Amino acid sequence: MPIYEYRCAACGTQKEHLQKMSDEPIAQCPSCGSSDYAKQLSAAGFQLKGNGWYVTDFKNSGSGPACGSGGCGSSGCA
Ligand SMILES: [Zn+2]
Repeated sequence: MPIYEYRCAACGTQKEHLQKMSDEPIAQCPSCGSSDYAKQLSAAGFQLKGNGWYVTDFKNSGSGPACGSGGCGSSGCA
Protein backbone atom coordinates (compact mmCIF):
# COMPACT_ATOMS: atom_id res chain seq x y z
CA MET A 1 0.00 0.00 0.00
CA PRO A 2 1.47 3.35 -0.98
CA ILE A 3 2.22 6.05 1.53
CA TYR A 4 1.05 9.52 0.58
CA GLU A 5 2.45 12.66 2.05
CA TYR A 6 -0.01 15.44 2.70
CA ARG A 7 0.60 19.04 3.58
CA CYS A 8 -1.77 21.62 4.97
CA ALA A 9 -1.45 25.02 3.37
CA ALA A 10 -3.27 26.65 6.26
CA CYS A 11 -1.24 25.49 9.26
CA GLY A 12 1.76 23.80 7.64
CA THR A 13 1.09 20.37 9.07
CA GLN A 14 2.80 17.62 7.12
CA LYS A 15 1.76 14.04 7.60
CA GLU A 16 2.07 10.71 5.86
CA HIS A 17 -0.99 8.58 5.30
CA LEU A 18 -1.10 4.97 4.31
CA GLN A 19 -3.85 4.61 1.76
CA LYS A 20 -5.05 2.20 -0.82
CA MET A 21 -4.85 3.36 -4.41
CA SER A 22 -8.63 3.24 -4.48
CA ASP A 23 -9.11 5.39 -1.39
CA GLU A 24 -10.41 8.90 -1.70
CA PRO A 25 -7.76 11.53 -1.08
CA ILE A 26 -7.93 13.09 2.34
CA ALA A 27 -9.43 16.53 1.94
CA GLN A 28 -9.28 17.88 5.45
CA CYS A 29 -6.34 18.69 7.66
CA PRO A 30 -6.39 16.49 10.77
CA SER A 31 -4.74 19.25 12.74
CA CYS A 32 -6.74 22.41 11.97
CA GLY A 33 -9.61 21.08 9.88
CA SER A 34 -8.76 23.23 6.85
CA SER A 35 -9.68 21.93 3.44
CA ASP A 36 -6.34 23.14 2.08
CA TYR A 37 -4.90 19.74 2.81
CA ALA A 38 -3.28 18.40 -0.31
CA LYS A 39 -1.38 15.34 -1.39
CA GLN A 40 2.29 15.90 -2.13
CA LEU A 41 3.36 13.94 -5.16
CA SER A 42 7.09 14.39 -4.76
CA ALA A 43 7.47 12.14 -1.74
CA ALA A 44 5.97 9.04 -3.19
CA GLY A 45 8.28 6.26 -4.19
CA PHE A 46 5.52 4.63 -6.11
CA GLN A 47 4.35 4.98 -9.65
CA LEU A 48 0.97 6.56 -9.13
CA LYS A 49 -0.17 6.91 -12.70
CA GLY A 50 -1.84 3.69 -13.56
CA ASN A 51 -0.57 2.25 -16.78
CA GLY A 52 0.63 -1.30 -16.90
CA TRP A 53 -1.33 -2.59 -13.93
CA TYR A 54 -4.17 -4.16 -15.75
CA VAL A 55 -3.19 -7.68 -16.57
CA THR A 56 -6.79 -8.59 -17.27
CA ASP A 57 -7.09 -5.84 -19.87
CA PHE A 58 -4.05 -7.18 -21.61
CA LYS A 59 -5.55 -10.63 -21.60
CA ASN A 60 -8.84 -9.42 -23.04
CA SER A 61 -7.23 -7.53 -25.86
CA GLY A 62 -6.46 -10.80 -27.60
CA SER A 63 -3.16 -12.29 -28.55
CA GLY A 64 -0.33 -9.84 -28.56
CA PRO A 65 2.50 -10.02 -31.05
CA ALA A 66 4.35 -12.41 -28.77
CA CYS A 67 1.53 -14.95 -28.85
CA GLY A 68 1.25 -16.95 -32.03
CA SER A 69 -1.63 -19.27 -32.75
CA GLY A 70 -1.97 -21.84 -30.00
CA GLY A 71 -0.51 -19.43 -27.46
CA CYS A 72 2.98 -18.81 -26.25
CA GLY A 73 2.66 -20.76 -23.02
CA SER A 74 3.16 -17.80 -20.71
CA SER A 75 0.68 -17.29 -17.89
CA GLY A 76 -1.49 -14.48 -19.27
CA CYS A 77 -1.65 -16.04 -22.68
CA ALA A 78 -4.88 -17.87 -23.32
ZN1 LIG B 1 -4.00 22.43 8.96
